[in-house]
Amino acid sequence: MKNYLADRTKLIDASGIRKVFALGATLEDPINLSIGQPEFDVPEPVKDAAIEAIRNGLNRYSQTAGEAAILEQLCPKVVAETGWDKPRVMLTNGVTGGLLLAFMALINPGDEIVVPDPYFVMYKHLVRMLGGTCVYVDSYPDFKLPVEKIAASVTDKTKLIILNSPSNPTGGVYSEDEIKAVVDIARKRDIILLSDEIYDMFSYEAEHLCIGKYYDKTVLFKGFGKSFGMTGWRMGYAACSEALASLMESMLMIQQYTFVCAPTPFQCALPTALAQDMRSYVEAYRVKRDTLYDGLKGTFKLHKPGGAFYMFAQKPDRYASATEFVKDAIAHNVLIIPGNVFSERDTHFRMCYTTSEEKLRQGAEILCRLANG
Ligand code: PMP
Repeated sequence: MKNYLADRTKLIDASGIRKVFALGATLEDPINLSIGQPEFDVPEPVKDAAIEAIRNGLNRYSQTAGEAAILEQLCPKVVAETGWDKPRVMLTNGVTGGLLLAFMALINPGDEIVVPDPYFVMYKHLVRMLGGTCVYVDSYPDFKLPVEKIAASVTDKTKLIILNSPSNPTGGVYSEDEIKAVVDIARKRDIILLSDEIYDMFSYEAEHLCIGKYYDKTVLFKGFGKSFGMTGWRMGYAACSEALASLMESMLMIQQYTFVCAPTPFQCALPTALAQDMRSYVEAYRVKRDTLYDGLKGTFKLHKPGGAFYMFAQKPDRYASATEFVKDAIAHNVLIIPGNVFSERDTHFRMCYTTSEEKLRQGAEILCRLANG
């Protein structure tokens, strides 16, 4: 049969997370620790703002970068976080949309992209589709930023270093020393840092450190989906300093021919979203983290994560691989994701704790029982 598909389709694989979702759909009332999104809904005033925008006819294309009035309100936030003088900001179709634009604007076939492993699964597939090569830098077992290994992996072909703090899948948060050290490497070799800060609101131990504050050649990605329970609204933004103005210009040009703009009525709800006090939501997630961690810590090798809403634990010794353990967990009604979805290794598994305390306790109990045989 004739092969109609482009070669690039062979470079990617259906998301391992979706495979677990499909399995989960066959279970009755599973303990679902697999879904990477908050369980809370969009706050009512934010919903009202979007509905009002739709009723008021704000349903057409916006400017490519977003509605000027909305960008004006976002800019001071970026200035406060980064200290950049005249930041360039554009609204994107989720962080995913922004990542795709940046990768398309930056990656030539053969370019090397340094990616700390474990990593958010999308980076690998997008980079590969564009002909780039991921250079994975192992950050096991503590998931700190492996600065020395990053320095050793940089070559003349290195185009980007990808950073993600708080991290999906580990929940790890980089320390200021780690950030300064990676900035040092990037500055010496004039390399761009791509910083995915979609989980910035979910920092439990200390205030979030924005990488843009440390290095002007950072392209920043921030999201609204996780922070405000609006993953389906597809809202995020990208920002860079004047030093990367040409990158933002290229991203805008590519947006013209791909996404066109971020959804206009949802853009209009952003000022209301940003005015919400989300501290009680974050506090609730800190409590959930502690519940799951306390339920697992005596049995599993794992580090207490400082952010996001994930935990990444080592498989029990009695299983040959994390995939084997995940299969058994799913057979016992607990949905978790094998670590090889996010890593070149199959030794760990990811749990997401955006579910009820009761389910977290039940889930931890079942996983411990399986681990102990
Ligand atoms: N980056 C990270 C680290 C994520 O975990 C996710 C979503 N799981 C995204 C980006 C994509 O976010 P969005 O829904 O805003 O496209």
